[in-house]
Amino acid sequence: MNISVAIDGPAAAGKSTIANIIAQKFNLMYINTGFMYRAVAYICMEKSIPYTDTSSVCKVAKSLEMRFKNDRILVNGRDLTESIKKPSVSNNVSNYAAIPELRKLLVDMQQKMALKCNVIMDGRDIGTVVLKDTPLKFFLTASAGERARRRCRELKEKNIPAEYDKILNDIIKRDYMDSHREISPLVKSEDALEIDSSNLSISEVVEVISKYIIENSR
Ligand code: C5P
Repeated sequence: MNISVAIDGPAAAGKSTIANIIAQKFNLMYINTGFMYRAVAYICMEKSIPYTDTSSVCKVAKSLEMRFKNDRILVNGRDLTESIKKPSVSNNVSNYAAIPELRKLLVDMQQKMALKCNVIMDGRDIGTVVLKDTPLKFFLTASAGERARRRCRELKEKNIPAEYDKILNDIIKRDYMDSHREISPLVKSEDALEIDSSNLSISEVVEVISKYIIENSR
């Protein structure tokens, strides 16, 4: 039987950092589903396809072959990892991610990946939709202020200019859109373990998750 681990939570809660470490520790394939929505949004923006043109957006999505290699994403052979993290993509992706037909396409792809190997997936609807039958579900949160501070630090480390107030505002806006959309909104699955990482270090979060996986996957 395949092991599948689900991590959901709001923007910049540290999901990908934690998922990456857990993937290496338990030898799981890491699938960052946010990257998949970002890749579709990025390619559509490149082709000037607005999110309102849902049939063209789905046509684009169907034409993309997405492969994960550690924490990177290759889209039709192109490494788009850095391009899709740009603020212009972050500020538009939630509009594309609210398209029901697009979600169906990407959820199908994600479920097929989970059938092939042991996975850890992070996103917004993993515990509620994509891997709803797994017993290994986590909901990772932190206060909006703490998440904005972490994102600012991360950008400054890469020498990218970062304004705390703007980042905080963008995070709050994106969370609102993601948790108020009609289809698969961001909510904690009832059976997920909630972890508020506001006052926890990365290794403390990894420890909580590791212990839970070991205890619940026997
Ligand atoms: O995880 P990340 O912040 O990179 O996700 C980018 C966006 O993709 C989210 O704000 C959300 O709109 C969308 N998303 C989603 N469902 C997922 C993963 C991401 O709707 N499973």
